[in-house]
Amino acid sequence: MLKLVIPNMYVPSIYNIDILALQDQGMKSIIIDLDNTLVEATQPEATPELIEWLRNIQSMGFKVIVVSNNSKARVSHFCYPLDVPFIYTAKKPLSQAFRKALKLLGTERHETVVIGDQLLTDVLGGNRMGLYTILVVPMSETEGFFTRINRRVERFIFRWMKKNGYFRWEEKH
Ligand SMILES: [Mg+2]
Repeated sequence: MLKLVIPNMYVPSIYNIDILALQDQGMKSIIIDLDNTLVEATQPEATPELIEWLRNIQSMGFKVIVVSNNSKARVSHFCYPLDVPFIYTAKKPLSQAFRKALKLLGTERHETVVIGDQLLTDVLGGNRMGLYTILVVPMSETEGFFTRINRRVERFIFRWMKKNGYFRWEEKH
């Protein structure tokens, strides 16, 4: 059971992900979370740094889709200017949105990456589908009620991960 919430990779931020290495592993597409993964949850629009990152991975041939549990208003406002497809009110970790994303991307499970900042939504959902999961440290601490509850559970899992050598850099958890 614990294995389902353990990511394949854990990095400080999306900017620390070695995209070339993912490509070498045969990965072709990325399902990515929005809040606290791409930008802080309170940030309504993409930053120039993020826009450059997205353009870069797309120019490498990666297909990207944003899959968020947040509302239509939040997700569409953020994604429209980026010209990136998106799924809102995704209800992660349930499989439905992941299945829909795979269909839209047109890639197989073994060549699809999930990136997000939460173990109990992004990582659990991705692992259940047999996708390659990457956890990032959340960009900010401002979060809703359910996210705060999830964070408490995460702390227990983090302790286990730390004991088992999942952290390869010095961090604050
Ligand atoms: Mg998030």
